[in-house]
Amino acid sequence: NRHTNRLISIVQDLITISKLEDQRIETQKTEIDFHDLIMSIITIFDTKAREKGINFKINIDKDIKDFKADNFKLEQLFINLIDNAIKYSDSGNIEIKITDLEDSVEIIIADQGIGIPEEDLPRIFERFYTVDKSRARKNVGTGLGLSIVKHIVNQHEGNIKVKSQLGKGTTFTITLPKET
Ligand code: ATP
Ligand code: MG
Repeated sequence: NRHTNRLISIVQDLITISKLEDQRIETQKTEIDFHDLIMSIITIFDTKAREKGINFKINIDKDIKDFKADNFKLEQLFINLIDNAIKYSDSGNIEIKITDLEDSVEIIIADQGIGIPEEDLPRIFERFYTVDKSRARKNVGTGLGLSIVKHIVNQHEGNIKVKSQLGKGTTFTITLPKET
């Protein structure tokens, strides 16, 4: 059952990647209601988070103006980052902060989980890269989640940074430009 689930998860990730890379499926940019988007995603992870005693701290600027993005792809981005934040935490808060900067929108997703060793940080966005075998076995990761996130950020001509401290937590900061 575990192996079947793993295969299903790999196949789903691969389908997502091939859809994202299919040039015929264009990026469909619309105005984004971050409040709606985040709330619907939090719902997906509610039970999982509660089981671990993890709380979400959400802080979204009101009336973010002139920002368009592909809603479906942004959902995927949040799903992958929040999935990691929960999977690689035993407790603590997950902070989701969205700030309206003049020419861009800044998205911060921060957890208080196990952290990522410094030497792995440059590679975590690579396909199939997972940090270590023991973690992977416990959490059954494919190593595709962050490569998908990076891909979506690139498609929006944005940029993603990660900061992490072992045993303290991890923070992802994404900036997506407004209309170019
Ligand atoms: P998948 O997302 O495909 O199910 P995965 O979670 O292992 O598998 P990625 O999401 O690409 O793969 O992440 C790559 C690796 O980076 C993970 O294996 C994990 O070790 C590490 N990592 C990612 N996010 C975090 C985080 N928030 N805290 C600690 N480690 C993380
Ligand atoms: Mg992942």
